[in-house]
Amino acid sequence: MLLTTQSPEETEAIGQKLASWCLNRPEKEKRALVLNLEGDLGGGKTTFVRGLARGLGISHPITSPTFVLSRRYPVKAGNLKNFYHLDFYRLAKEDDRFLDQINFRQIINCSENIVAIEWSERLGRLRPSGLILCFVFKSEHQREITLKGETDLLNQVKAYLYGKSA
Ligand code: ADP
Ligand code: MG
Repeated sequence: MLLTTQSPEETEAIGQKLASWCLNRPEKEKRALVLNLEGDLGGGKTTFVRGLARGLGISHPITSPTFVLSRRYPVKAGNLKNFYHLDFYRLAKEDDRFLDQINFRQIINCSENIVAIEWSERLGRLRPSGLILCFVFKSEHQREITLKGETDLLNQVKAYLYGKSA
C-alpha cells in the first residue's frame, strides 16, 4: 500500500490514524505490536512517530532517541501500557549484545507494548515481524510511504483506513 504526503502535517496525520487503529483493534496480541520504520534520512520517520505518539495520548515532545537508542512513554489505553520509540541508526549491524542491554527481546515479546523502530533495517535477521513502513524522500515536501509486512496486519490497516480489506 502506497501513501503520498505533501507536508509534515500529512505524515503526522498518518501516524495518528495508525495510533487510533492500534487502540481500536479487537485482536489480542501475543507480542508487542511492532512498526518497523525504514528508508531515507529525512524521509519522515520521526515526524510519523510524532503523530503516532499524539494519537496514543502522549503529550511529551518526541525527539529521536538517536544516542540513547530507546525511549519509553507510558500509555493508558486498553491493553496497552508502553510506547517504545527506538532508533537504531547508530546500531552496528545485528549487535546482539547492545540489544540485550536495552532489553530488546523483552520489549518485543510483551503484548502490552507498541514499538516503533526507526532504522529497523539495521537489525538484519533480528528485525521483528509486524508492519514495515518504508519512507522515500521524493522532493522538499513530498514523501512516499509504502506499507508492507505481515499480511494479516496489513489487511487490518487497509480495512481501518478504507473501510474494506482490499
Ligand atoms: P527521519 O526520521 O526519517 O530522518 P524526520 O521526520 O526527522 O525524518 O525529518 C523529516 C523532515 O522533512 C522534517 O524536517 C520535516 O519537517 C520535513 N518534511 C517536509 N515534508 C515532509 C513530509 N511530507 N513528511 C514528513 N516530513 C516532511
Ligand atoms: Mg528520525
